[in-house]
Amino acid sequence: DAKRDGGGVMRFFEPALDEAARRRRMLELDLREAVAKGQFTLAFQPIFDLKAQRIGGFEALLRWHHPDRGWLSPVDFIPVAEETGLIVPIGEWVMREACRTATRWPEHVRIAVNVSALQFRSPGFQTVVLQALAISGLEPRRLEVEITESVFLDGEGPVVALLHRLRAMGVRVALDDFGTGYSSLSYLRSFPFDKIKIDRSFVTPVARDASAAAIVRAIIDLSAALRTDTTAEGVEDDEQLAVLTEQGCGSIQGYLFSRPVDAASTLELLATPLVRAAA
Ligand code: C2E
Ligand code: MG
Ligand code: MG
Ligand code: MG
Repeated sequence: DAKRDGGGVMRFFEPALDEAARRRRMLELDLREAVAKGQFTLAFQPIFDLKAQRIGGFEALLRWHHPDRGWLSPVDFIPVAEETGLIVPIGEWVMREACRTATRWPEHVRIAVNVSALQFRSPGFQTVVLQALAISGLEPRRLEVEITESVFLDGEGPVVALLHRLRAMGVRVALDDFGTGYSSLSYLRSFPFDKIKIDRSFVTPVARDASAAAIVRAIIDLSAALRTDTTAEGVEDDEQLAVLTEQGCGSIQGYLFSRPVDAASTLELLATPLVRAAA
């Protein structure tokens, strides 16, 4: 019967569960140490403004140099950082480091910072932003906070109020990974976002799939009607660029223009004449 089968299943899977739990626990301990020991760094990926034909900003992307496992991607550790609450101190470090780096760039160049739902809803978030701006001296209009729809899951009211407070400070707000959530359109009515980032899953097939092209066109037209900027994520080839340009997309981000680079290389990218701009 079920009970007997269950017992067998338990015996069979227990070591595997132990192993998964053990690895998770290890990662948590390592993450705690990583914050204290400064093992994090930021990569910066340029966002290319199609109208101005220049770099309009960079997105800060978190990297972790693990003492034994080498460089780890945020997708490998952000879920655990969120579950354990460690995303709050990590996110605070990201915000400060990103603002500090951006002060080295020309004034028209913005910094976009990813903020996870848990960090965004943590009580000190607004203070973290204020302090990062105050310490760095960065103009608030040069900071763009990227959130995803998941911030709204536990209720819209307080989130929308905080978005308006950030806006009142002069900070910009972008809606990241647009199109991958559940009810994107309703969130667009809740708050006038400064930017919509079209998720890579729509951008990748945009030049070969009529439905993807229609959806991207609809997002761009909708954004224009709402007076919201658009960035296409994950642009990797010229065919995608051609479609996005024709559709009136505001800016592109992706390997076609540049992979994420270290802080020093951002200055080189900003100083390099843009060959691609002429193409
Ligand atoms: P995201 O915010 O949507 O960031 C874009 C991701 O797409 C980055 O991955 C970037 O390296 C990657 N990407 C950019 N261009 C291309 C392309 O042309 N092709 C492909 N295949 N990928 C491209 P990354 O750096 O691994 O970050 C993954 C996710 O982790 C981010 O997605 C974001 O949700 C999260 N993340 C990164 N940094 C932070 C952070 O500081 N705080 C928080 N809370 N989350 C972060
Ligand atoms: Mg992002
Ligand atoms: Mg994104
Ligand atoms: Mg994405």
